[in-house]
Amino acid sequence: MFTADAHCDTLYEIALCHTPPEKCVVTPERLASGGVGLQTFALFAGKHGTQGTAHQDGLDMLAAVPRLGVPVLTGDLPDAPPEVPTGILSCEGGEMLEGSLARFEEFMARARLRMIALTWNFENEIGYPAVGGEQKGLKPFGRELLRAMDAAGVVADASHLNEAGFWDLIEHAEIPPMASHSDCRWLCDVPRNLTREQVRALIERGGFIGVNFYADFLRADAPATMDDAVRHIDAICEMGGERVLGFGSDFDGIDAWPDGLGDPTGFLTLLDALRRRGYSEETLRDIAGLNLWRALKRAEAARR
Ligand SMILES: [Zn+2]
Repeated sequence: MFTADAHCDTLYEIALCHTPPEKCVVTPERLASGGVGLQTFALFAGKHGTQGTAHQDGLDMLAAVPRLGVPVLTGDLPDAPPEVPTGILSCEGGEMLEGSLARFEEFMARARLRMIALTWNFENEIGYPAVGGEQKGLKPFGRELLRAMDAAGVVADASHLNEAGFWDLIEHAEIPPMASHSDCRWLCDVPRNLTREQVRALIERGGFIGVNFYADFLRADAPATMDDAVRHIDAICEMGGERVLGFGSDFDGIDAWPDGLGDPTGFLTLLDALRRRGYSEETLRDIAGLNLWRALKRAEAARR
């Protein structure tokens, strides 16, 4: 079954934390064992905010792409989902673009970003993060960047963005937005998770939601288990979200996860748990990877 993951931080581990690739959670071998055909590797702007070195860090992460050990697609997506582990690139934290469309073009030319998480946990030139509770929406550069992203076929990722920014995306983004690695806030009340209204809006716009495996986003009152991941998936499906739902593991970016969900082989375990709950094979294929694949193909087709 084609499986796809919308987010991991492996490039940051390799390039900025100097972790040897074979010591990372996401490795070519584990992707193959987990049946992963498409793994999104984020260029993560890092924990410095706008005072930092995000742009140079982004270039350093790009330079580390060959060390991932899997082919990374920098051209158009193939017609059919890849059958062997293949990478695509995203950006997490728009401060890497330094408020400049020229920087955006530079990364597009070098890396063919498929999605951009407009903020990480800091305010930047684009907007405001989910943590902190700022009520303002996208900044003027954020709106300008969004138009450039729509024209370039890049999906806006709201996973770390504040709610006002999220609603700006719902209203103004031509390409349906996504939340690449966020869970349900009504099941685990943290600002990084999505409200029911946000989930409903992503379903209505035909976007994408990648379930995050971080234990602290799955359950607040006790250590999260595989059942908690299933609970979040059930909840989104109960709202009619089985065609927008997938995985956003956050591997190599998280330090706590449910037993069985600690590396890419966990996708198979989770899919088995869903199968036992009675999910149809068609829905399992959608959740495993086709929903993300279709979202990316749609975005590419929207490119002008
Ligand atoms: Zn993140």
